[in-house]
Amino acid sequence: MTTADIIAVGSGHNGLVAAAYLAAAGKKVLVLERNAWFGGGVVSRELTLPGFRHDQHSMSHIFIQGNPLLKNDELKLKSKYGLEYVFPESPMMSLFEDGQTLRLYRDSERSAQEIAKFSKKDADTFRAVSKQAAAWLPMIASSLYAPPAPVGATNAMFDQSREGRQLWRIIQMSSHDHLTDLFENERVKMHFARVAGENLVSPDEKATAIGAYVFLGFLEAYGFGVAKGGSGKLTEALIACIKDHGGDVLANADVARIKVTNGRATGVECVDGRTFAAKDAVIGAIHPHLLGQMIDGMNPQARADAEATHITDAACITVHAALDAPLTFNSPDKCDSVMVECLPTSYEVLRRDFDELRYRQLLPYPLLGLGSLSQFDPSRVPAGKAILHLWDYVPYHRPDGRSWDEAKNEYADRMLAHLKRFVPNIDSIVLARHVDSPVDMERTSPSFRRGDLHGIATTTYQSGAHRPTPELGQYTVPGLDRFYLVGPFQHPGGGVFGAGRATAMKMFEALGMNFDKQGRVK
Ligand SMILES: Cc1cc2nc3c(=O)[nH]c(=O)nc-3n(C[C@H](O)[C@H](O)[C@H](O)COP(=O)(O)OP(=O)(O)OC[C@H]3O[C@@H](n4cnc5c(N)ncnc54)[C@H](O)[C@@H]3O)c2cc1C
Repeated sequence: MTTADIIAVGSGHNGLVAAAYLAAAGKKVLVLERNAWFGGGVVSRELTLPGFRHDQHSMSHIFIQGNPLLKNDELKLKSKYGLEYVFPESPMMSLFEDGQTLRLYRDSERSAQEIAKFSKKDADTFRAVSKQAAAWLPMIASSLYAPPAPVGATNAMFDQSREGRQLWRIIQMSSHDHLTDLFENERVKMHFARVAGENLVSPDEKATAIGAYVFLGFLEAYGFGVAKGGSGKLTEALIACIKDHGGDVLANADVARIKVTNGRATGVECVDGRTFAAKDAVIGAIHPHLLGQMIDGMNPQARADAEATHITDAACITVHAALDAPLTFNSPDKCDSVMVECLPTSYEVLRRDFDELRYRQLLPYPLLGLGSLSQFDPSRVPAGKAILHLWDYVPYHRPDGRSWDEAKNEYADRMLAHLKRFVPNIDSIVLARHVDSPVDMERTSPSFRRGDLHGIATTTYQSGAHRPTPELGQYTVPGLDRFYLVGPFQHPGGGVFGAGRATAMKMFEALGMNFDKQGRVK
């Protein structure tokens, strides 16, 4: 049996972040990964042809930029372990089917001028929204990288001032209702409503309106980070940090069970029978639906609540393509943002699309988003070539009963045929492609259960200290000592946040260590 101080189940970036802080503090860590590769949702792989490196899942690193992990380079991932970002001027844009565009820039005034193409009044409103987003950003950011405050205390705090009550009102509203209050132009509304879609929810879903402020605040303050060499460079930097501090990562180690002795996690057992002992603690990237199967004798109520957590209706399907040449767009304007949203000309079409998902139907009008990051980082492709990352939303169970394994290529054909309306040269430049259906995503990481990129739905009742459930919201499991959770299904949610930092803070406290002093690479 191999023994370490800390065993981490899963090499997703959150597990690696937690493990790296503990390694920096002198703990011997061992990370076990069921796949033959490391990184979970933060990987770059040659999925199509040699020399084309695709970000299989996450491509832009947004919210992690405000995390002290990178902001203050606490683990020296940037200054010592090779992590480097470029921050393109325009992080996100809408390309409407008739060729009109709306680009958001890091510079708020340039974005306002884009919005003025549609409505001068909306441009003025946007200036005020941008100021408000910047004002709220420090408070929002301070809540993202540490264990969440109790829900009741947070709400009581909001209730103490006019500004707090105003924020609480927006937090409870749907994106659509709030955007309708703010803007007059349909396309401006649709542009910001699409942001809710990126969070896998309909703009008509209650309690989504704050998302636009969070998104805009980060977009302007930090930009969208494009990692040089690919998203997986973050994973590589974290592994380099762990190894530099005497730790290790092991592939093809599928953990079946957490070993519990006298109410304390003492190690793990793999599907193939190998066992690993943990002297101090175990970290688990384990989805709430699966926890009870892996922890013998888990508190029955906590298990039932975890298994009852809700998954979004908007599962994801992606197409990765190796391209012979860069994309050309059906627009006189530049389409060089990190994320390009291919949108209809009518906002109602977008809203009705999300209604169809609620009824588990395929979208009548595909809602394609795309990124072609080789334009910012040519090292990912052979000279003169390019890559495409294309995504759309689908139900996990197809309405016609066919399996996604059998039908995914047909659906990818549909996505590429629709893309032709926006990218006329697409037919002639695809050299090879790789399609991930929601079922494939679930296979690559159990976090992406039923194709939910965020593990579980991002709703108010599954947020903050109640994510995934009130019992599990502090990264711990009731009745089980020295076991700590990481994953997109924990606070602050799905996305590349580096949220393992908050799990590490809890662990330092339990192990009698000082996070601020010891959790740093010197
Ligand atoms: C298609 C797609 C696109 C995305 N795009 C973006 C984006 O552009 N920007 C962004 O910020 N976010 C994006 N996301 C979300 C982001 O990738 C995830 O939220 C994030 O990677 C989750 O990290 P994690 O470490 O918590 O979990 P994961 O990355 O899921 O890692 C968990 C790891 O644990 C392993 N594991 C689980 N159980 C076991 C076990 N029993 N034994 C051993 N190993 C185990 C898994 O194999 C996996 O490697 C995207 C996600 C997807 C799927």
